Amino acid sequence: MSITTKFTEAFGVEHPIVQGGMQWVGRAELAAAVSDAGALGLITALTQPTPKDLAEEIARCRDLTDKPFGVNLTILPTINPPPYDEYRQVIVDAGIKIVETAGSNPAPHLPMFHDNGIKVLHKCTSVRHAVKAQSLGVDGISIDGFECAGHPGEDDIPGLVLIPAAAKEIEIPMIASGGFADARGLVAALALGADGINMGSRFMCTQESPIHQKVKEAIVAGSELDTELIFRPLRNTGRVASNAVSRKVVDILDEGGQFGDIADLVSGKRGAKVYETGDLDAGIWWIGTAMGLIDDIPAVGELVSRIVSDAEEIITARLAEALR
Ligand code: NAD
Repeated sequence: MSITTKFTEAFGVEHPIVQGGMQWVGRAELAAAVSDAGALGLITALTQPTPKDLAEEIARCRDLTDKPFGVNLTILPTINPPPYDEYRQVIVDAGIKIVETAGSNPAPHLPMFHDNGIKVLHKCTSVRHAVKAQSLGVDGISIDGFECAGHPGEDDIPGLVLIPAAAKEIEIPMIASGGFADARGLVAALALGADGINMGSRFMCTQESPIHQKVKEAIVAGSELDTELIFRPLRNTGRVASNAVSRKVVDILDEGGQFGDIADLVSGKRGAKVYETGDLDAGIWWIGTAMGLIDDIPAVGELVSRIVSDAEEIITARLAEALR
């Protein structure tokens, strides 16, 4: 048995599960393992320091899997603005067929992606942004609840309300993101009106995830209480692990500090050291409240099969049983 949805059919993926873009984590090893498992793996474009490096990373991923994978292109404030147009050109030239856009309006990127037969899955954190993206002609929506890692937006609406509220308005395939880590989440997302799930934190804590073992162990040990919301006063809210650095950032901004006062503390270059060295206080690192649901470090293939088979069991046994 398998779970077939509007998303699996439109995007040509076996299982309704996507590995969301993750800065420093979405590299070839992880994307290839996820796609090999029948879900959709994504390489995170901006993790590669230059567009040329992205082209090489895509080639490396092709050496690791024959299955289709996509690329995430996140457009948010950055300390040094990346050459988005050049990254976009590399994605097209490499023959990628699925792109996850996130962070801001995908309009400037759509014509070129669509002209080249690329399907665009747009990740956003509010119903109004999802409706706008649908009207612009994106091919799918990834609706991202307040539980998520990364940038949850400023509305603070958790998935339990956000997903069905979006489902009322969205007719194209829609996957649910934020707080998903297991089969219960997948079945809940389907029940709430989504066509699949996006998982970041859960895939980050797998054997193939290219980050230090100590970070994976910290995720297993951590709970749903162990995240901080940084950048709130700057209206660029980010959910990260609670550590000495993120708590300091919250304090500085709460006392009226500006981005310049925290730029060194939050820079992505510094955060990358956490994943490289396993020093959990080296910088900020990104994780969602789903940390409270993650208790092991499985191989990606094992994780995807477990989620799909447990979801089938929940639907055909537990829920069917409740109907008696
Ligand atoms: P970076 O080093 O340029 O910036 C670090 C953080 O500061 C980022 O979260 C960025 O959005 C924020 N920032 C930068 N300038 C800002 C400003 N003027 N005002 C408010 N906030 C500001 O970025 P990076 O860590 O190298 O990441 C590259 C890109 O990937 C950024 O767009 C970042 O937001 C994004 N990102 C996304 C996620 C996620 O959603 N999962 C996680 C990490 C980074």
